[in-house]
Amino acid sequence: MYTLVIHGGAGALSRDAMTPEIENSFRSGLSHALNIGEAILKRGGSSLDAVEAAVKELEDCPLFNAGRGSNFTFDGINEMDASIMEGATLRAGAVSMVRRIKNPISLARKLLDKNEHVLLTAEGAQRFARECRIAEVSDDYFHTDFRWRAMLRNRDSGSSKLSEDVVPDGEVCDPLDKKFGTVGAVAMDIEGNLAAATSTGGTTAKYPGRVGDSAIIGSGTYANNETCAISCTGHGEYFIRNVTAHEISNLMMYKGMSLNEAADEVVHKQLIEMGGRGGVIGVDTKGNIAVPFNTPGMYHAYITSDGQHFTGIFKDEGIAAK
Ligand code: ASP
Repeated sequence: MYTLVIHGGAGALSRDAMTPEIENSFRSGLSHALNIGEAILKRGGSSLDAVEAAVKELEDCPLFNAGRGSNFTFDGINEMDASIMEGATLRAGAVSMVRRIKNPISLARKLLDKNEHVLLTAEGAQRFARECRIAEVSDDYFHTDFRWRAMLRNRDSGSSKLSEDVVPDGEVCDPLDKKFGTVGAVAMDIEGNLAAATSTGGTTAKYPGRVGDSAIIGSGTYANNETCAISCTGHGEYFIRNVTAHEISNLMMYKGMSLNEAADEVVHKQLIEMGGRGGVIGVDTKGNIAVPFNTPGMYHAYITSDGQHFTGIFKDEGIAAK
């Protein structure tokens, strides 16, 4: 038995603000990443390989705020964060503020495999990438017009914005709202091992040097075979202060909550009380799935060995509606 769950960011996503064509392109981007990850799980591959492959695929898709479609800092630079964790060993790798790295998640994976340091940032991470011969591309590769326009619109407002309130035609769904984005994956493989991965371009028009929860093990990403695997998306400053992914694991471990109860408690109660918007995806050791979000929408999708293949965006769809 295996399960793979992915997300592509949360925000003020509404059917009215999206053309059917845009909606379909997001759904097919999610579906494609699911299929890539599932191919690994199906042939008995590890959850760690599956989450890396699915996130890599989402990083390569310009629609999502990670890798190719990353947000810009207010200086017009793409600085990316990513992290990955293995539930069986608690090994983890994370990178922050990396530039021109085609797939930040694969750089984080190299760090996990090396198993010496957990988090490398900026110049040190770039140097490690060169040593590992990780693919580098030019700055132009990351340029998408709608993220650039979103950055220009937001940079004078004086506060950091998140990205999935922006749809690719450049229109802001709710100009007063925060802007979210990010991609992530969690999986359970046929051995029952869990893994989680997250990658992001961060918030729109963020301050240069800002690091979000997606690079922080325990906040944006966590996996532990005793409890669950979690990947988060939302206003990173709140997810860091709430230590969100680890908090969900702790509620399961010490309070005996189910994955759904723990994830709901954190997303719909704790984060809301702090003012933090966003969502999480999670899987537990029995293959149960949770996809709670406290925003109007979250791009998410899952696939299971018993034949479920689902893509969702809005609150009234699939398990999000239950
Ligand atoms: N959590 C990410 C960050 O704060 C952004 C997001 O998920 O939209 O960098």
